[in-house]
Amino acid sequence: MIVSAAAPAIVLISEEHSEEMLAGFARYTHEYDVRVARSCHEALQTTHDIVAEGGTVAMFASESVLPDAEVLHCFHKLREKVPTARRVIAAHWDRFLTDAPGLRPGMAKGKYDAFLLMPRGVRDEEFHNAITDLLSDWGSTVADPEVVAVKIISPTRDALTLGIRDFLDRMGMPSRVWEPDTEAGRYVLDHWDGEPVYPLVCRGHGTVMHATSVRDVAIMMYGAPTEIDLEHVVDVAVVGGGPAGLAAAVYAASEGLSTVILEAEAIGGQAGTSSMIRNYLGFPRGISGMRLAQRARNQALRFGAQFFTGQVVDELRPGFDGDPHVLCTDSGEVRARSVVISSGVAYRKLRVEPLEELVGIGVYYGAAMTAAREMEGQDVYVVGGGNSAGQAAVHLARFARSVTIVVRRPDLAETMSQYLVGEIEYNPRISVRTCTTVVDGGGDGRLEWLGLQDVRTGEQEKVPAYGLFLLLGAEPRCDWLPGAVARDERGFVLTGRDVPKDQWSNGLPPENLATTVPGIFAAGDIRSGSMKRVASASGEGASVVPLVHAWLAPVPGPEVS
Ligand SMILES: Cc1cc2nc3c(=O)[nH]c(=O)nc-3n(C[C@H](O)[C@H](O)[C@H](O)COP(=O)(O)OP(=O)(O)OC[C@H]3O[C@@H](n4cnc5c(N)ncnc54)[C@H](O)[C@@H]3O)c2cc1C
Repeated sequence: MIVSAAAPAIVLISEEHSEEMLAGFARYTHEYDVRVARSCHEALQTTHDIVAEGGTVAMFASESVLPDAEVLHCFHKLREKVPTARRVIAAHWDRFLTDAPGLRPGMAKGKYDAFLLMPRGVRDEEFHNAITDLLSDWGSTVADPEVVAVKIISPTRDALTLGIRDFLDRMGMPSRVWEPDTEAGRYVLDHWDGEPVYPLVCRGHGTVMHATSVRDVAIMMYGAPTEIDLEHVVDVAVVGGGPAGLAAAVYAASEGLSTVILEAEAIGGQAGTSSMIRNYLGFPRGISGMRLAQRARNQALRFGAQFFTGQVVDELRPGFDGDPHVLCTDSGEVRARSVVISSGVAYRKLRVEPLEELVGIGVYYGAAMTAAREMEGQDVYVVGGGNSAGQAAVHLARFARSVTIVVRRPDLAETMSQYLVGEIEYNPRISVRTCTTVVDGGGDGRLEWLGLQDVRTGEQEKVPAYGLFLLLGAEPRCDWLPGAVARDERGFVLTGRDVPKDQWSNGLPPENLATTVPGIFAAGDIRSGSMKRVASASGEGASVVPLVHAWLAPVPGPEVS
């Protein structure tokens, strides 16, 4: 074995076909500590030894049948020891068809990550594709990522430091925070002229900046709209880089339209904060929201789209009679012949004052993927009964000692998909506290405790808590829109036939995804009546492009001879 002792382990579990398994994983022995266990008992012992020596396990790959335990029971036991490891069944080809029907449902419930056929030869790339995808997911979700593209130097894990790390994670730029008095800290300080000020952010091997906001980092990495010549008018400006905006960008740019995307935070929108999207067409093993978003961004970049992240559009000045529409941000304006509004939704506020003050230091809106890593060994709470709350709880349980879902309702069945309810019931680290609300909380410099109230009895209890993740349902992000863009009573943008009749033109409604202002379109969750799914948002983003085309190049009238 050529690998160093500190390398993460891959534990293969097989009695009958351990030779084939080992041969299948031969290419990983350079970078992982590949070990073989011949039973569940042996796998547990091996894992115990690895953890006791300070090591970690990246993956358990088991045959579908073990001599001393059901494979799913074995995974359950192993998960208690190393919750971050990916779990794979590699069924021998003699058993693949017979074992698949009984084992596949467990995958939908999150009991393991992939059901594969044992490699059939030395270059079974289909198998290795799945394995490397899973290892890559593992590498980007463990507390300290395997690959680091950006170094952050900070003596404290304050809200800004964690905000920068969250932004970079969501942009697919793995980062790590070091204290100044470490090897990495000293390296970065050596490349910094002047007094030490924190956080310092170092890209690659040299460029160092002092960040005063997440936007500073976004501009250092990805530029600002000031780069666009003020007189230049782009064909289409997309506001919001979630699935709807990304799809609009890919299709618009691929069809030759000059396309600019303005995104307030990181690319990906709500979907980008999801640890695993399981129901998006074409990804049978699921895909992390970050990965999906970054792939779409790269696709749009290849076609020439221009992205600006960390840029909040705070005003849209509609242009009439051939004038361009103007989008205003703090770092400059963008003028566009057409606009796609794809600004999605944001989480509703909890409105418990002492907790609002701790946002970023123990209290988080949304799944806060990066903050999840900070929860290692801690007790955390998730508020919300929807699928996003369920997904967040499952992700947090990889790190936290306990995760408690707090819901006002008597159960989760009405609001959460059955597969997630099953996954939560199965996960020993997650519990559900029904008929309960969060009414208070506090701590010394960060969240330390919460006040919970039973809604039936009014009784209150103070519990220790290191993290509170709020996934409370959504409100449209429409405060930047002008009155001319008609909206429904909740603020969602009206399009097509949903526009009130008195705003139709010549007795005709606007086109399907067109708003009340000519040349301004809406797609995705921001649109009144939309389905609120990744597939529907990206479908609408793609569908809006022919309408943009038609608007930019109106069909000429009959020639007059
Ligand atoms: C944790 C979680 C898990 C989910 N899991 C699934 C799932 O498994 N399957 C599924 O189908 N759906 C899932 N959803 C729902 C899905 O993610 C959304 O339906 C989808 O992301 C909507 O896409 P969108 O582009 O319309 O809006 P959003 O994703 O909300 O993106 C809007 C973007 O616009 C930006 N923006 C807003 N205002 C401005 C402004 N003024 N200036 C610039 N930018 C702005 C925002 O920062 C955001 O990035 C999940 C949602 C969450 C929160």
